[in-house]
Amino acid sequence: MPYLKVKGFVIREVPVGDADRIVDILTADHGLITASARGARRTRSALLMSTQIFSLSNFEIFINKGHYRINSAELIEAFLSLHQDIDRLICAAHLAEVLLDCTRDAMAQPELYHLWAYTMQALQTQDDPLLVTHIAQLRMMAEIGFAPQANACVICGNELLQEKSLFSIRSCGTVCTASACRSLAIDARILSTGVLECLKHSLTAPFSRIYNVRLGPTVRSDFFGLSTAYLSHQMEKAYTRLNMLTDLQASGQAWFQKSNRI
Ligand SMILES: [Zn+2]
Repeated sequence: MPYLKVKGFVIREVPVGDADRIVDILTADHGLITASARGARRTRSALLMSTQIFSLSNFEIFINKGHYRINSAELIEAFLSLHQDIDRLICAAHLAEVLLDCTRDAMAQPELYHLWAYTMQALQTQDDPLLVTHIAQLRMMAEIGFAPQANACVICGNELLQEKSLFSIRSCGTVCTASACRSLAIDARILSTGVLECLKHSLTAPFSRIYNVRLGPTVRSDFFGLSTAYLSHQMEKAYTRLNMLTDLQASGQAWFQKSNRI
């Protein structure tokens, strides 16, 4: 029987029957793998921790007629501190949902894998897991080819005067202050320099430095609003898990309530 040895993160875990699991594993070279893990929910199972949601493990997987079954697994890291902090756990669950919407089965997406690896570490250790979450979801969009325009006007192509720019969710990018451009992007809202810089950083920074960011409360709130609206528009769905975090509830709406006058 052919088999595969692969390292990966458990992104989704679905209980099946009395003691089994189906897991989605994010790998660098084989994309997303869906595999069964028999008996994995038994307390004495060797697969219990290694197939738990968010775990990073080395897997040995048997392949039979297109079905993948985990034969053995060696846990590398369980990310237990995520499981012990409800806010961090909600952020990780939200990002897993976004990631699953961004990945294609069996298509290698090594950049998404490496982004996920840095993101999991940051979610465990950074003071502001919500900021990590919003940076990560924008970068996921960029890695699958849905980055917003952030260096020039998305309508006319002219370079932006940084102190005076707007952002249009519908037009997917920054808009200059020329009246012709503004009339074609009627949903555009003022973008502060701080939010624009954080947006650019999220889209282009090396993964090793992407979460080295601190924001003041206003920029943070506006950045979250922009990120939430952009993700929802691009993926054509509402992501609701983060609504459980009261911190976000106000900021998500604030973006739309801002005046677009300059
Ligand atoms: Zn323009």
